[in-house]
Amino acid sequence: RAAAASSSYVVGVDVGSTTLRCHVYDKKAAIRGSSSKKVETLYPHLGWVELDPEVLWTQFMDVIKEAVQAAGLQMNQIAGLGISTQRGTFITWNKKTGKPFHNFISWQDLRAAALVNSWNRGLILKVIHVISTMLHFLTWSDRYVIASSLTFTTHHVSLRLSWVLQNITEVQQAANENNCCFGTIDTWLLYKLTKGSVYATDYSNASSTGVFDPFQMCWSSVLSKLFSIPMSIYPPVEDTNHSFGSVDAEIFGVPIPIAALVADQQAAMFGECCFHEGDVKLTMGTGIFWDVNTGNHLHTPSLYPLIGWKIGKEVVFLAEGNASDAGSTIKWAKELDLFTSVDETARMARSVVDSEGVCFVPSFSGLQVPVNDPCACASFMGLKPSTTRNHLIRAMLESIAFRNKQLYDTIVKEVRVPLTNIRTDGGVSNNSFIMQMTSDLINKKIDKPVNTDMSCLGAAFLAGLALGFWTDKEQLKKLRRTEIVFEPQRDSGEYKLAMDNWTKAVQRSLNWYN
Ligand code: ADP
Repeated sequence: RAAAASSSYVVGVDVGSTTLRCHVYDKKAAIRGSSSKKVETLYPHLGWVELDPEVLWTQFMDVIKEAVQAAGLQMNQIAGLGISTQRGTFITWNKKTGKPFHNFISWQDLRAAALVNSWNRGLILKVIHVISTMLHFLTWSDRYVIASSLTFTTHHVSLRLSWVLQNITEVQQAANENNCCFGTIDTWLLYKLTKGSVYATDYSNASSTGVFDPFQMCWSSVLSKLFSIPMSIYPPVEDTNHSFGSVDAEIFGVPIPIAALVADQQAAMFGECCFHEGDVKLTMGTGIFWDVNTGNHLHTPSLYPLIGWKIGKEVVFLAEGNASDAGSTIKWAKELDLFTSVDETARMARSVVDSEGVCFVPSFSGLQVPVNDPCACASFMGLKPSTTRNHLIRAMLESIAFRNKQLYDTIVKEVRVPLTNIRTDGGVSNNSFIMQMTSDLINKKIDKPVNTDMSCLGAAFLAGLALGFWTDKEQLKKLRRTEIVFEPQRDSGEYKLAMDNWTKAVQRSLNWYN
């Protein structure tokens, strides 16, 4: 701790879905050097989304080396490393050889959509659920497990892991022989960084898998049994900021302490300093993630309950509502040359008075809360001969604001803690059109910080606290800097017609892939 406190910099890495980025932070949390790379996503079959583990590992090492170099520093000036990772993307590998059995299966992957649908429609589970709400001797944990069975999504590891065990013989065989390791991206990177000597994850990542019981704070034996997942394949779960070991000296020339593993949304929550009950953050990157700090109370369904972080005795829970597609649709439109730079999109949307009745449904990976339909399709509706690119872009940006409104309303309805500050981050939060329209629709102020790479900062904050680089959360709060606060300017009623029209388009896109 003393050595770390006297070193001058902490490194935060975020393995996002679009971008892998690394920032080197000084004591004032100012960025001294950065590097980023596009995450290379593979689409081997329709609906399948994968990442190559070796490519990811090489990119991960490269961004750290490049960021430290860009800061003009030597590796021995780095006090420690915090790693934030996209959630629900997993891999399995051979315990003896360390060789993966398959590529990472991304949270965006839809191969388990049919399984998810059949589980969600299962009449027996519905009956059990209704009965369970009446049986007061059931523990909260049992009720959670039963209730969550009704709202599975393809985002969770659970049914995709079940698919892997059913369809890849090698994995099933290795699992039977107790020779299979399961890991989310953090676990795989930790394993690689320590040359196979440390196998672990943290509570925030584990709780994002859908097979972890946040009431008992352990892997759920009930759900694992339900999906025929052997308990032996799960890694040990540690505190979010914990001494996970050091990077093997051969990798960067010196052993760098790994002081935090954290799931990306929880990391963003920490980076935004949403430390108090009722604090809300809205991250808009590839997807949309609304998270509310529910303090030490576990919020129960229908919003998915998560562990925000565990630091010693402090356990903070979050309630989350999310949508898979936001930036992913913008990225797609750019690839189609609907515009040349994302920075043009807000101006294009404002150049027309409305979308001329065109609606876009942002559903490349189904629609999640509150719709919950993995088989919904993305679509443009209401196209006319007079429709221009500007109308299309306006419809796309409006659809992200409408999804925000749907998610916000669900949160207000479901979460029983009064909501206080709303803070935003992620690439799409740079879009002033979406931000203003969201603020109008929910009739709330939204605070956007100077630096929107909050997952990186959150991972660095967590690592820095563990290392004694920063002293406490009060110090961290003083380091957060607001760039702009979006305030409601138009009455939300002015959007009613457009939103009703859009809701109709959503209804018509449901169940498309069934
Ligand atoms: P992730 O962490 O999921 O990789 P990021 O937070 O890096 O995502 O955000 C990247 C996404 O943000 C991309 O899909 C990009 O298209 C989108 N994006 C970036 N800037 C803007 C902007 N000004 N307007 C709209 N979308 C934007």
